[in-house]
Amino acid sequence: IFITFEGPDGAGKTTQLNALATRLRKTRQSNGDLLQVVTTREPGGTQTGKRIRSLLLDSSDARIGPQAELLLFAADRANHVDEVIRPALDQGHWVLCDRFEDSTRAYQGAGRSLPSDVVDSACRLGAQGMTPDLTLLLDVPPEVSAHRRNNRGGEDRMESAGTEFHESVRQEFLQLAASNPQRFLVLDGTRHPTEIHHQVWIHLASQFLS
Ligand code: C5P
Ligand code: MG
Repeated sequence: IFITFEGPDGAGKTTQLNALATRLRKTRQSNGDLLQVVTTREPGGTQTGKRIRSLLLDSSDARIGPQAELLLFAADRANHVDEVIRPALDQGHWVLCDRFEDSTRAYQGAGRSLPSDVVDSACRLGAQGMTPDLTLLLDVPPEVSAHRRNNRGGEDRMESAGTEFHESVRQEFLQLAASNPQRFLVLDGTRHPTEIHHQVWIHLASQFLS
């Protein structure tokens, strides 16, 4: 089972991913064995990916145009699929991934205003046919996202973009969810993490653990 966590910065993706991983690791399969769970993230889920991540986020090197940015995210994903995601799924493990293709559509597509056919091609190259079984979209308004980003301290190159950028990213995530209702579960990221986790678990139990 392949589950992705999506949403604006500061929406609580990592918190929910860790909570779900902890709970799944205590869960037994029908044969009595514990579930095997791999947690990972983009960009930076592999050794090569970590180098791509620092190219993308290092604020001292902001001279990366939208096309180069799109291709770097696609390269990170292609490597991540080859090295981590596909091998784990092939072994029957659960894979929980912090950001995937929907982030590219939201940030590089809507945020950087790249044409959708260009983004589609990069997404095909990156994901190589891997589609999440479930995508948890943690939705928060830009004010909440900005506030949480500031509290974490130190914005990266991508996070320093303006309010308009972050608003279009959020709207694109919501549109992606609306067009793929069978894959997405939209969660209100302003609610308490425990409540959100409960909602995730109920959904998962009915869909994948019964
Ligand atoms: O989620 P995480 O904080 O690791 O993402 C790192 C940065 O990259 C964030 O600022 C995020 O907004 C940005 N990003 C992006 N396009 C993507 C994925 C992440 O601009 N496709
Ligand atoms: Mg961040």
